[in-house]
Amino acid sequence: MRHPLLLLTLTLSAALAALATHSVAGQAATFRNPYVVAEDTGQRPAPSYFFRRAWVQITRDLAATEVPPTVPLDIAAMAQRPFAVAWLGHAAMLMRVGPMWVLLDPALSGTAGPVQGLGPARMTPLPLPLAQLPHIDLVLVSHDHYDHLDLDTMRQLARQPGGPPKVMAGRATAPWFAENTGLQAQEFDWWQTQELGNVRVRFVPAQHNSGRTLADRNQRLWGGWVVEHAGQRFYFSGDTAYVADLFRDIRQRVGPIDLAALPIGAYQPRPLMRFEHMDPAEALQAHADLGATQSFGVHWGTFQLGDEEPFDAARDLQAAVLQQQVPGFGLLPVGGFVDVRPAEGQAGVPPAVALQPARATAPAPLLATAGVR
Ligand SMILES: [Zn+2]
Repeated sequence: MRHPLLLLTLTLSAALAALATHSVAGQAATFRNPYVVAEDTGQRPAPSYFFRRAWVQITRDLAATEVPPTVPLDIAAMAQRPFAVAWLGHAAMLMRVGPMWVLLDPALSGTAGPVQGLGPARMTPLPLPLAQLPHIDLVLVSHDHYDHLDLDTMRQLARQPGGPPKVMAGRATAPWFAENTGLQAQEFDWWQTQELGNVRVRFVPAQHNSGRTLADRNQRLWGGWVVEHAGQRFYFSGDTAYVADLFRDIRQRVGPIDLAALPIGAYQPRPLMRFEHMDPAEALQAHADLGATQSFGVHWGTFQLGDEEPFDAARDLQAAVLQQQVPGFGLLPVGGFVDVRPAEGQAGVPPAVALQPARATAPAPLLATAGVR
């Protein structure tokens, strides 16, 4: 068993956070989901859920835990592409678009929590150390949950050689960046668009929530991102529940999607998670609703947040793809990249059924400074 004191702290803080979501909301201005789901009573995982997750984490046999494989990220090959996206594990992605390097939801630390060492531990290595990333021009953040907005990663990026990146995030998020990282974040409302040379960036709705502490639930806007370049569109939904109207609205208002990154993990226990996270079959339906040419699954196999086992997300997606016979939804290894416009000689999304599991690696040491950061 590792770090018993740490885990005690983890479970207590998680339990307090879970309690707080029921008691504090409403005291400050908060955002609401764009779509009303009648069955959603507002009930969310109880404190016992977080104790269970912590117990699973400290007793997990990593040698027997299946996760996605990791391959080295080929930055030199990506640099030659006009528009390509690499999966860095969980919801973190690196994008090459025109002359820019863009990070999406870069939670690249050893844990996803309020401080290093606290929270779900990384089970797949990064495909390259943060220090070996190219100069990042832009960071797009979908929402403020710890597994999407990581303090240490953002501080590291704020200090990158050559100057800090631009940061774009939802409304009411800029104060967090200013206070914690010194970065100036540009805030977006849903459907708001920004042109950056020949790249267009748009923030779109998602059915989810936000919050990092006991007192800030739903006070920063959550959403997804559409990046458009040379007539091609990439869509990252951020975390979202499945709502058919959401994906139809995006298709209608934004236009056809050439490549989508859709979350497939953290879906059990289904009665609670279904109001904030899609399961793999729903993600496949979202891919179909969007009319996306290609999609790949993210938000799985890296930080384990749901009651399903890490590789269950891949297996459930593989089963859904075989059953529904919907083409174009696949899975990348960590470090794999795909062109937004696949053509001969370029990288398309591999079929979901092609991905074979690897074994989990040991979590990064507490207060890690090498390798992960
Ligand atoms: Zn989230």
